Amino acid sequence: MSALVDGYDAAFFDLDGVIYLGPEPVPGASGVLADVGRRGTRVMYVTNNAARPAQVVIDQLRGLGFAADPGNVLTSAQVAAAMLPKELPAGAKVLVCGSANLAGLLEQAGFRIVASADDRPDAVVQGYDPDLSWRRLDEATLAIQNGARWYATNDDASRPTDRGLVPGVGGQIAVVATALGGEPVTFGKPFRPMLDEAVRRTGAAHPIFVGDRLDTDIEGANAAGMDSLLVLSGAHGKHDLVRASAEAQPTYIGRDVSALLEPPRVARLRDGRAECGGEVAAARAGRIEFAEPPAGSSRQLDALWAATRLAWLDPSLDTGPALAQLDQVP
Ligand SMILES: [Mg+2]
Repeated sequence: MSALVDGYDAAFFDLDGVIYLGPEPVPGASGVLADVGRRGTRVMYVTNNAARPAQVVIDQLRGLGFAADPGNVLTSAQVAAAMLPKELPAGAKVLVCGSANLAGLLEQAGFRIVASADDRPDAVVQGYDPDLSWRRLDEATLAIQNGARWYATNDDASRPTDRGLVPGVGGQIAVVATALGGEPVTFGKPFRPMLDEAVRRTGAAHPIFVGDRLDTDIEGANAAGMDSLLVLSGAHGKHDLVRASAEAQPTYIGRDVSALLEPPRVARLRDGRAECGGEVAAARAGRIEFAEPPAGSSRQLDALWAATRLAWLDPSLDTGPALAQLDQVP
């Protein structure tokens, strides 16, 4: 049986939780991605982080053993710079509430970068910037009140660090939204422009998106009409998966990116039962049960996928006891 990835001409990868975990690569991932490329599937790395220049991402990926270059790395700041010329006339004034990287890309795209609402900017663009000042938020808020159009590179609520979660650009957007109401037009995942740009740059006809978050990666893939693989190596695990809303349900699941080189995991539903790879989950007395306790990591993933498909059909089913049996699945 052929590998999952063989059904696709391009694979787009989220970074944190998929390719690396903080400073460390996901074990085996660089070999898997090299193999994906050798099989003729285009690889593109897609990141919502707008503060880091693409070259910094490329250098980091290369340092971790991945084949990265300007042709296969896409940041939300680059997407903003690619999309804004369709929204604003050349030479329009833009107040950047974000990093020097974002301002530089917008300047290259033909806009005049201004720092004050008194410069009457045509647009405000918000992006992640750990050194952002409150005064810059004042200027952005004043400019939007004066009629400037409002954009954001992405709206991630938080950012994972090795010390825990810290506020993402979503917090910065919320400051302005708290003052004014409304919301910006947003380019990054889960919004369509980012994946549309990835498709445009790769020329893909049938891509798959690989991510670790249901609410950004998988929801973004679904919004773009793209198949997706949820990997359980990052933020979201089995408890999130069984509760996923219809917009955030992945096409496939896998322990990590190595699932791309394995046969696709497919579940068959019939008469209140789901079967995947020989593992059977059934609904009985309001809860999901397995025909026999699944042993081993791969069988547990099959069992999880069977249970998940039943839980999506009937969210009132209790999945707790079944998931507790899957002790080798995150
Ligand atoms: Mg991630």
